[in-house]
Amino acid sequence: MSVSMSNMFGSFGESLSFLLHVTQHEGRSVEQLLAPRRLGEDGPSLGGAVVQASYVQRDPPLLLRLADGHIPWVIEPQSVRFASAGYLGVESIARLPYAPPTALDPARFGDEHRRMVRSALEFQARHEPALYMVPSLPVARASARVLKAFRALHEYAATLNGSEGIPHRPMLATAYPGTAVLKGRFSVFDRLADRSWAGVYVQPLQLDTKRDGVEKLVAYAKFLQEGQSSGLRVIAGRPGAFGLVLGAFDIDLFDSGLGGGDSFSLSRLDRPRVPDENGRLHGGRARPVYLRPLMSALREADANAVLGTPALRSQLACDIAECRFGGYRYAIENPRPHFFHCRQAELRALKDQRTSSLRVQLVNGWLQDAIGTARLVNRVRGEAGLTAIDFDYLDRWRGVLARIASLVAVREP
Ligand SMILES: [Zn+2]
Repeated sequence: MSVSMSNMFGSFGESLSFLLHVTQHEGRSVEQLLAPRRLGEDGPSLGGAVVQASYVQRDPPLLLRLADGHIPWVIEPQSVRFASAGYLGVESIARLPYAPPTALDPARFGDEHRRMVRSALEFQARHEPALYMVPSLPVARASARVLKAFRALHEYAATLNGSEGIPHRPMLATAYPGTAVLKGRFSVFDRLADRSWAGVYVQPLQLDTKRDGVEKLVAYAKFLQEGQSSGLRVIAGRPGAFGLVLGAFDIDLFDSGLGGGDSFSLSRLDRPRVPDENGRLHGGRARPVYLRPLMSALREADANAVLGTPALRSQLACDIAECRFGGYRYAIENPRPHFFHCRQAELRALKDQRTSSLRVQLVNGWLQDAIGTARLVNRVRGEAGLTAIDFDYLDRWRGVLARIASLVAVREP
């Protein structure tokens, strides 16, 4: 990243800093994490926070905590939900002050779109974030009409910046591409080229890096690189630990939820939540435990079984900060602060490598070790009569790393 880009970006999201994605389900936990510490205790240091509008709307104390901690934050407008009528049945979205009365067609840009954009930016302005985020709509397919509307929406948002009720601030473009758009050769970034955006936040409509195949992940990484090479600072939305693979290729900013096991699915969001076989609703209550040597967030029960096995514990126990003194149970009982210090350590290590090829080597080494450790974990589980945990994505991520690295190598003379 060039110096001028980093200046343009201000203090939000330094390169390879920890960017936290805050949902309404997790907001309270984030508040606790950022609560004032005892003397001599370091709180988690963040490069910024992406806070969902539905949570911001409740005026939570978190916003004051972020301000107190000098942590720059932005409001994720969740406007991607407005393209289909499902949001009308989701109270937290339907009640956003800028939610349109009926769904908005992403292939058009009319008065109702203008009203939504203005009202969303006014909402953001009232809460005084570090930067505005453009409330754009999904780009499910790269049709000429959708791309034209996408461009018009962004241009309109840019012209509103600095107008009555919307004091001037740096502005982030947003793109919510469908899988066909990631794989296609039509660039959404061309549509943003002639404005001075502080960056672009990219959240694919369907992204689950632990399940997605190599081809899709390669397309995703190349898509982000294309944005970066068109001169836009790219922020990758919730790629999970795959963000570290992206980090090796200078996509140096991605946001993470509290547990580290991230995914996004627009179509799933609009479906009502149904209880699982134990009658529990999933969402904010799941507490995955991140195991850094596996680059994976495991379900609590699995983490318990893995760390409870002395033969595995020596390889997998965390030795950072409180974990070093709290015994292996500390990470299981405090998965969030544990995830924070793990991810910070990972990002720091990545940042310490001065060139992209050194970063690629580092992440490749991590993946190689994780694959070996995952094999060991499943062998031990097999001997204990437990089912294997799926770690196949580690191989896929390594495949993506190799593919992109070879592309980069070809490009560099
Ligand atoms: Zn730890």
